[in-house]
Amino acid sequence: MPRDTASAEALLKDIFGFDGFRPGQGEIVEAVARGENVLAIMPTGGGKSLCFQLPALMRGGITVVISPLIALMRDQVRGLREAGVAAGALTSGNTQEETDAVWDMLQQGTLKLLYLAPERLANGGTQRMLSQAGVSLIAVDEAHCVSQWGHDFRPDYLRIGELRRALDVPLAAFTATADAETQEEIVTRLFDGVAPSTFLRGFDRPNIHLAFQAKDGPRQQILSFAGARKGQSGIVYCGTRAKTETLAQALRSEGHSACHYHGGMEAEDRRAVEERFATEDGLIVVATVAFGMGVDKPDIRWVAHADLPKSIEAYYQEIGRAGRDGAPAETLTLYGPEDIRLRRTQIDEGLAPADRRDADHGRLNALLGLAEALGCRRQALLGYFDEQAEPCGNCDLCDSPPEVFDGTEAVRKALSAALRTEESFGAGHLIDILMGKMTDKISARGHDNLPTFGVGKDLSKGQWQAVFRQMMGHDLMRPDADRHGALVMTDRALPLLRGEDTIQLRRDAVVRATERRPAVK
Ligand code: ADP
Ligand code: ZN
Repeated sequence: MPRDTASAEALLKDIFGFDGFRPGQGEIVEAVARGENVLAIMPTGGGKSLCFQLPALMRGGITVVISPLIALMRDQVRGLREAGVAAGALTSGNTQEETDAVWDMLQQGTLKLLYLAPERLANGGTQRMLSQAGVSLIAVDEAHCVSQWGHDFRPDYLRIGELRRALDVPLAAFTATADAETQEEIVTRLFDGVAPSTFLRGFDRPNIHLAFQAKDGPRQQILSFAGARKGQSGIVYCGTRAKTETLAQALRSEGHSACHYHGGMEAEDRRAVEERFATEDGLIVVATVAFGMGVDKPDIRWVAHADLPKSIEAYYQEIGRAGRDGAPAETLTLYGPEDIRLRRTQIDEGLAPADRRDADHGRLNALLGLAEALGCRRQALLGYFDEQAEPCGNCDLCDSPPEVFDGTEAVRKALSAALRTEESFGAGHLIDILMGKMTDKISARGHDNLPTFGVGKDLSKGQWQAVFRQMMGHDLMRPDADRHGALVMTDRALPLLRGEDTIQLRRDAVVRATERRPAVK
């Protein structure tokens, strides 16, 4: 049977050696093979490459595959060749011999899959070559790289839409990034705004244990988490470059094998860390988000966040690097008021247009909602991706449900303290007012004369800190970046202030605070 008409199942078995499709793969393969424009959103490890490799064999002509990851392209080309498929790559890593071989196959019309680094699209010669090569499909891997507001943005990805128009062939775009804005940007830039057939594959990664903790001696929290997993490969994500270095040092002095990784390092040093991580057992990489795309080690046993990620999508993607082999994996995400302040400031001071900034605040809110969740975290996480789920039994809140209390009155007192001081102060000063502390700052401003002064003596300082953190988590108050983190009430707090709504807060942090210092109650 000629290959062009062979059935997908037969090729799946004969060429790739798989007995069946993974969930979602079959429909995507069919749509791409039929020549539809396709956007497929699949979690990392879901089996995206098959979804364009197989249709490439079913269709006549050449499939052009655009990917930002040279090492991954080379792996795929090698794998395809071993399976007897005519594949080649044009990347900066090519030897002249490899390039010549690709051109030969192109001229003879035998090439089926041509992998291209995006930089190649800037070259007029490449465009001319492609327009004469008999291209019948464009596949774009890591399609979110077209999004200007993501940290994986690749300017050359903006040329792909132009290429599609010039060749007038179907395009299949793949990404693991699930958020709606990025999808919209992909549709605008790759498909000229005409909605492609869209496939969203399940996002649950049931083998990954989810856990959050409020920061409370964060370095020690990370050291004990790692200490309980000695000898296992793990990643610690940090908010700053400097912290990757100090934390890696701290881990080493506890006897771990650990190294740091960030975008400020020489390319050579970064590659050395990637190489070690891929080949060594039990190495911990302490990194910024620069360590990510292209990390495809299947047996990463744990991922910890020493600082809060920037959004719920970033969180999902970062923890998703753990346990790709399907075996149990653990995660821990730390967060505190400083993180919330930092993330808000980054959004407010970023270059994104106003509507994008609002969306970013929303995605941060979603992550904070997950951090302060009262029930199963997986349910909350999947709910954000519009998936229904039962309580999972594999998150910290399923393991031990949090105790909640009616926090309405505490929240009202806190809001009132902020409003009566013109929303000009941070949590520390507001807590001093609530607790009736005579500090210099309080007497200098006459804040001991406020009706709110001392109305919060029933809670300890730690308890109030937990209340303020949860208020920021519920987006009832936001730090004002222009005024050194002064807390400003948001519209969301109005119903509570007016007595039209109540709020449940988690007591866990509060209980911890009272353990360290006797309750004032
Ligand atoms: P992604 O790009 O989505 O992260 P890959 O395409 O690299 O994932 O696939 C992940 C792994 O799953 C690869 O090792 C691949 O060989 C394997 N795989 C893909 N499809 C199937 C299938 N239908 N049956 C078995 N294994 C598969
Ligand atoms: Zn759960």
